[in-house]
Amino acid sequence: MKWTILGSGGCMVIPKPLCRCRVCQEARKKGVPYARAGPSVFLHDINLLIDTPAEIVTLLNRSTIRRVDYLTFTHLDPDHVEGFRVVEQIALDFRSWRAYPEKQVCLLLPEQLNAAIRDIRSQYGPVVDFYQESGFIRLMAFQEKVQVANVDITAIPVDRGSKLAFIYVFEKSGRKVVYATCDIKPFPEHRDEVQQPDLLVIQPGIFEEGLRHGFRYPAEHVSRTTLYTFEQTMDLAARIQAKRVLFVHLEEYWNRSYDDYLALESKYPGVGFAYDGMPLTV
Ligand SMILES: [Zn+2]
Ligand SMILES: [Zn+2]
Repeated sequence: MKWTILGSGGCMVIPKPLCRCRVCQEARKKGVPYARAGPSVFLHDINLLIDTPAEIVTLLNRSTIRRVDYLTFTHLDPDHVEGFRVVEQIALDFRSWRAYPEKQVCLLLPEQLNAAIRDIRSQYGPVVDFYQESGFIRLMAFQEKVQVANVDITAIPVDRGSKLAFIYVFEKSGRKVVYATCDIKPFPEHRDEVQQPDLLVIQPGIFEEGLRHGFRYPAEHVSRTTLYTFEQTMDLAARIQAKRVLFVHLEEYWNRSYDDYLALESKYPGVGFAYDGMPLTV
């Protein structure tokens, strides 16, 4: 499988708007790989885009991608869906205000998200309805598993009450990628599908030290209910026997620059930190 990490940042991009911290100043000066846009990846084998942060139009234009045939979402938090209108940007024929038929994107959604996505609205009502009526997308909902060409996709829900999130497992020709970018706690590690991936793409979770403002997360901090720590994430990767680990969704608040992550990954064999535009072959 051939992948591109389009955006390696988290719910806060780097540079964070107006922020004058060391990491953001350096990113503003040097750009990528020091700068990080919101979370999004692309699977070239089937032209599948996963998640659309606010910066997605720029990310696509910066890439070599020529077609988006499929789009899916891990969950519907704003940092993953703000750029959903990219389907209109791609498909709109300005003469008719309808879509070029050949540019229509198939929105591939687990059933549970298919219901929830109607909460994303504009003045025209649910944007998903407007995009369908205009022909920008066609919707394909599925229950847990779907096959696209020769790629098997499994959507595993993370049990987080009303705020549903999914971990995706991609399998092709005996290779497996587990994609777990955001809101992944409690990670469904009891599931067979997530065991022994060739690549685990996951968020690193909380760093206990070296944060902005010298902050230390108290034991009862609310973020601990939604995020693992970096050490817990490393333990999790070991328990599911991930052959390689790639960290994404790298938050500005972790206060670490591209160079800091390079230094960190040299300490952990088989572990990497993503950057915007990073190509991957699995
Ligand atoms: Zn900053
Ligand atoms: Zn997120």
